[in-house]
Amino acid sequence: MPETVAFIGLGNMGGPMSARLVRAGYRVVGFDVAAQARQALADAGGTAAPDLAGAVRAASVIVLMLPNSAVVEATVRDPRFVAAPGTIVVDMSSSEPLRTRALAVELAQRGVTLVDAPVSGGVSRARSGELTIMTGGEPADLGRVEPVLAHLGTTTRAGAVGSGHAVKALNNLLSATHLLVTCEAMVAGERFGLDPRTMLSIFNSSSGRSGSTENKWPNYILPGTYDSGFGLRLMLKDMRIATGLADQVGAPDPLGHAATDLWTQAAEALEDSADHTEIVTWLRKD
Ligand code: NAD
Repeated sequence: MPETVAFIGLGNMGGPMSARLVRAGYRVVGFDVAAQARQALADAGGTAAPDLAGAVRAASVIVLMLPNSAVVEATVRDPRFVAAPGTIVVDMSSSEPLRTRALAVELAQRGVTLVDAPVSGGVSRARSGELTIMTGGEPADLGRVEPVLAHLGTTTRAGAVGSGHAVKALNNLLSATHLLVTCEAMVAGERFGLDPRTMLSIFNSSSGRSGSTENKWPNYILPGTYDSGFGLRLMLKDMRIATGLADQVGAPDPLGHAATDLWTQAAEALEDSADHTEIVTWLRKD
């Protein structure tokens, strides 16, 4: 009998990740509030549970891929979330590190272990199983879930519980900040009369290169598709987690706050469903 993995949150990331676990031979029982997401798991060969209880019941490992800490907390505190003692919950969402630590203590009182394992790499790497996974937890607990995570990407242990969520938020503060300044540079170059592809080619063999110049601009912005699958509001959430963390530990973060203020203005101006790469459309309107 294959191990049963519950997968809660079958959206842009959770959909392809859960499908990979199905293909790896796990019995995957998933739940999402969206019927379409549940149907996609069933189509991929998994079992779509009609409610949370149905997904959680028989699982030894419960993966969460939900929007944020508030939804994660509401999910594990839901009376239908009846996890047997000894169960391990893996929060792969980009959650808030201090809330994760508090939740681990709360779950431990129910005999349930929480580890964090957020990811970087986006939808394309979720599909290919090449995510960067950063984990937080006790080594023995991480050892229990790493065989599952191995089907989703490459794991690096970051430290105690909450550490994965801390480094994930800090990573996205870097990512959002260099995407915004890349957009500023590209728009300035375009208005000067430079060819955007030539600019990217030069940046990508120069010191200005980044994931923004190597991936986001050529793949999602220049073609005008804005379909990276990572929402602008989710990026802003991560920036706020990172600047909040810096403030809590007394680390200087004036640029992080300035970038977060600009992304906040973009979020207010753009549709709720905007992809994070649409930040350039907000910039161009100024
Ligand atoms: P998404 O909005 O596409 O998916 C979230 C899913 O959770 C949705 O299908 C939604 O219906 C479901 N959901 C919401 N509340 C629920 C509840 N109470 N019970 C069950 N299901 C519920 O978001 P996503 O892009 O898949 O991101 C998920 C997490 O991964 C976020 O924390 C995000 O910051 C992080 N992340 C996303 C990307 C990306 O490129 N999309 C990359 C790295 C990390």
